[in-house]
Amino acid sequence: MPRRTDPGELERLRHRTSEINRKILDLLNERASMLPAIQEVKARLRLEGYSPAREQEMLEELITANPGPFPDDAVRQVFKEVFRAFLGLMETEKNTDLRVSRHSNLPDILVRVGDRTIGGGTPVIIAGPCSVESEEQLEEVAAALAAMGVGFLRGGAFKPRTSPYAFQGLGVKGLHLLAAAGKRHGMAVVTEAVDTRTVHVIAEHADVVQVGSRNMANYELLKAVAACGRPVLLKRGFAATLDEFVQAAEYIAAGGNEQIILCERGIRTFEQETRFTLDISAVPLLQGMTRLPIIVDVSHSAGRRDILSSLARASLAAGANGVMIEVHPNPAIARSDNQQQLDIAQFRALLAQLQRFLAPV
Ligand code: PEP
Ligand code: MN
Repeated sequence: MPRRTDPGELERLRHRTSEINRKILDLLNERASMLPAIQEVKARLRLEGYSPAREQEMLEELITANPGPFPDDAVRQVFKEVFRAFLGLMETEKNTDLRVSRHSNLPDILVRVGDRTIGGGTPVIIAGPCSVESEEQLEEVAAALAAMGVGFLRGGAFKPRTSPYAFQGLGVKGLHLLAAAGKRHGMAVVTEAVDTRTVHVIAEHADVVQVGSRNMANYELLKAVAACGRPVLLKRGFAATLDEFVQAAEYIAAGGNEQIILCERGIRTFEQETRFTLDISAVPLLQGMTRLPIIVDVSHSAGRRDILSSLARASLAAGANGVMIEVHPNPAIARSDNQQQLDIAQFRALLAQLQRFLAPV
């Protein structure tokens, strides 16, 4: 005799199924709530987050303990998915837990260079020639900049040039010239390290070690500058996303050096009127993403000198902690970047236009 249909039967079964789903969910959440403790212990023991051996062991335990009727293959499939989801969780937690990240709830990082500070209050100006070319060239520009109150002197001694035949910089001799000019005029000096071999000698002579755009993703160089004992000015790769840029900074922080200045210096776009396109939105976005000071290099962004004042004012209006500008006593004969460097009078005029941003608040 066919069973009489009970109209409430399906409802009851569905209700029970929903209850079981909720219990599974509660258990998954209980498992998720253990993650921070597991991660903490693993970090202390310096163990990897993911252990394939442990995953295999858990699967075997489950299959052995499975009384059915849920088939072993299905147990394996479901738990592999569970493990994968938890691994994903561990990875996102690690990401939001970057040392330089804003999410860490730690205060803003101020970079101390001698008695100067980058970050916080008044924006800084970093100026100087693209390349250190001679004692005379450097002396002329350093004396003028110091007299205008510029605190940071930049100049490349090791130059990363697109053409191997272009001027590659004076090397160690350039470092000596730069350090001496900085000392004479009471300025902190900033210069670029292009490879791991020279980081040490650069850190000996420079107050701030720069990592250039072409090297932002040179992770071995990032590890080397992390250990160099100097603040690091990290430039954004011209084809790097902001996330990649922040991760590059994290390499330096993870290496024990949180004295990092981020530098937006333009990114490559289809636009040809400028050498690169200044990504002004990087300034507030990076401020939201990280606790690090952010400066803008307007010279390499533009690749031309006629719009530098506008770009510098836009950068400071957007909240940048400073600007970097190339200045040369005679740009027409500069051995690198002669289209974009300002002469001393042009720089003086630009600086006058920035005064309202530079006055202490
Ligand atoms: C520089 O600042 O000298 C330089 C080479 O800039 P970038 O790495 O941004 O091209
Ligand atoms: Mn340059």
